[in-house]
Amino acid sequence: MNYGKFLSRFMKKDECPFCSPQKDFIITENKSAYLTPARAPYLKDHLLVIPKRHVVMLNSLKNVEEKDIFNLLISGIKVLRKKYPAVDVDYREGDMNISGKSIPHLHFHLVPKKRGSRPNETPLRKFLNEGSLIKEVERIKKIW
Ligand SMILES: [Zn+2]
Repeated sequence: MNYGKFLSRFMKKDECPFCSPQKDFIITENKSAYLTPARAPYLKDHLLVIPKRHVVMLNSLKNVEEKDIFNLLISGIKVLRKKYPAVDVDYREGDMNISGKSIPHLHFHLVPKKRGSRPNETPLRKFLNEGSLIKEVERIKKIW
């Protein structure tokens, strides 16, 4: 399934894909947020930090959620820095057509950068089926 098909299915069902993740999609979690591989990765090892509560805007977060998200950003960066020289942290907010955000549930992208990769490079995104996503979780847990 391509990413566009996945998005239109989710829009039709009016169901947020980030609100109730399968347990085996989660690399690690705390009380109010979780770390997962991106379902439509820009590239290998692209991770997402997502609050468990459906929140759209950054200023709607409670203090405990901010702290939990920040802790997972640090954990995700730490694991990616074992393999990569740099990591981009990307957050988009506001008009979805302009920001390029495709899921209206707050999330942070952790995108590894290799030596020689161009800044702001956005390769074509592919979409992982459930089996591939679970394999990614297991693979990334091993880097931990
Ligand atoms: Zn949601």
